Amino acid sequence: MNFKNVRLKLENKETSFENLVKQYLDKIEKGVQLNAFIFVDKEAALIKAAEIDKKLENGTAGKLAGLVLAVKDNMAIKDSQVTCGSKILENFVSPYNATAIEKLLAEDALIIGKTNMDEFAMGSSNENSYFGPVKNPVDNSRVPGGSSGGSCTAVAAEMAMAALGSDTGGSIRQPASFCGVVGLKPTYGRVSRYGLVAFASSFDQIGPITNTVYDAAILLEVIAGHDKRDSTSAPVTVPKFSKALDGNIKGLKIGLPKEYFSEGLDSEIRESIENTIKILEENGAEILEVSLPNTEYGIAAYYILTTAEASSNLSRYDGARYGYRAENVESLEDMYVRSRSEGFGNEVKRRIMLGTYVLSSGYYDAYYRKGQQVRTLIKNDFEEAFKQCDCLITPTTPSTAFKMDEKTDDPLAMYLSDVYTVSVNLAGLPGMSLPCGFDSNNLPIGVQIIGKQFDEEMILRVGDFLEKNLALKTTG
Ligand code: GLN
Repeated sequence: MNFKNVRLKLENKETSFENLVKQYLDKIEKGVQLNAFIFVDKEAALIKAAEIDKKLENGTAGKLAGLVLAVKDNMAIKDSQVTCGSKILENFVSPYNATAIEKLLAEDALIIGKTNMDEFAMGSSNENSYFGPVKNPVDNSRVPGGSSGGSCTAVAAEMAMAALGSDTGGSIRQPASFCGVVGLKPTYGRVSRYGLVAFASSFDQIGPITNTVYDAAILLEVIAGHDKRDSTSAPVTVPKFSKALDGNIKGLKIGLPKEYFSEGLDSEIRESIENTIKILEENGAEILEVSLPNTEYGIAAYYILTTAEASSNLSRYDGARYGYRAENVESLEDMYVRSRSEGFGNEVKRRIMLGTYVLSSGYYDAYYRKGQQVRTLIKNDFEEAFKQCDCLITPTTPSTAFKMDEKTDDPLAMYLSDVYTVSVNLAGLPGMSLPCGFDSNNLPIGVQIIGKQFDEEMILRVGDFLEKNLALKTTG
């Protein structure tokens, strides 16, 4: 169910919101083995639903009344837990709301629960959660992608109408692609990061995960905007994103970066993307090949820079200020060491070690500084490409959802699965994944649309057009 239709139904009194919320709670209960949620407050949801019904009745309801929203558990909701998928924050309760949450609540969105995720948003399969892995709702033997795996599963399995995710290197777009839903990572600075637990602060962005492009536009409209509590949020005007969906793609110049179609791309995904491009071309878009020559250095630069930032950001979890503290410690140092050793999982520890290493005095120039230089080159590549075209089309992932445990023993293979998503974060650009087909196992395939800085309107317009013109059928 998408929000746009639900809102109409509610306005026409075809159903009550309370009834609808009950249906969602039912789905959550029936799908508990998917492990999509870390926390659901059933009673609070029903009370809130009744309140919203009243507001709908007396005409005081906000723009998002009728929306059942799931929120990734790395965003702060006042008086509620924020675990970040980690033991170290297992019992942490937030004293404040994230800005995005505050804006959504002000428009009467109903938050049904907090979703499972890779610990501290580090992962591509949702197998790194302290609360256990999430299963892909399409095929339970496969991963839903990560790190917003719980959010994408919740939307795909109709446990929520929409969800919030966060994307540092693909964590909204990759699981959206694996689960067959829409996932939008806004331009860096478009949405306030206040209240989003930091992983890599110069990369992280909050974004919507939805069933339709229209719903993504509406959500972005609400959560976007400058926030004085986040100095990296941009003081730019927020367009009416939903108005951009005018179905007009004639004359648009759409670039295909040739590096994203080289070897390593699954042949069925290639075919599906080519089919998608054909539809755009048949409807008057001009398709041209472009080059992003530094693409091959993206993964290395991303994993150097994000681990460096993470090693610094995660130093605050020391057992002293908040979160997990080891018991029976012998000294202050013992408390730090044991709290962190016992509180963090293996992938998080690996990243802290990597990040500390690339920042250490003998290696800073060779790794961290080089990484920053490559970041600039990648940004410049996109700027050059955008001189020729309005947006770019690429696959979101090199493969469809892989099997559980397939890559857990091989971190490098896991990192390489982010090859098409990380450059967008290195350059701070907006990117969206939307379903464009299925492979022979009936697994969803996602197409990625990348826009110019602050041009989410363009990617939403193209995405909406594709959604309406791609006849999506499963192969079975
Ligand atoms: N898979 C990437 C990583 O593990 C992306 C994570 C994210 O976007 N939060 O770092």
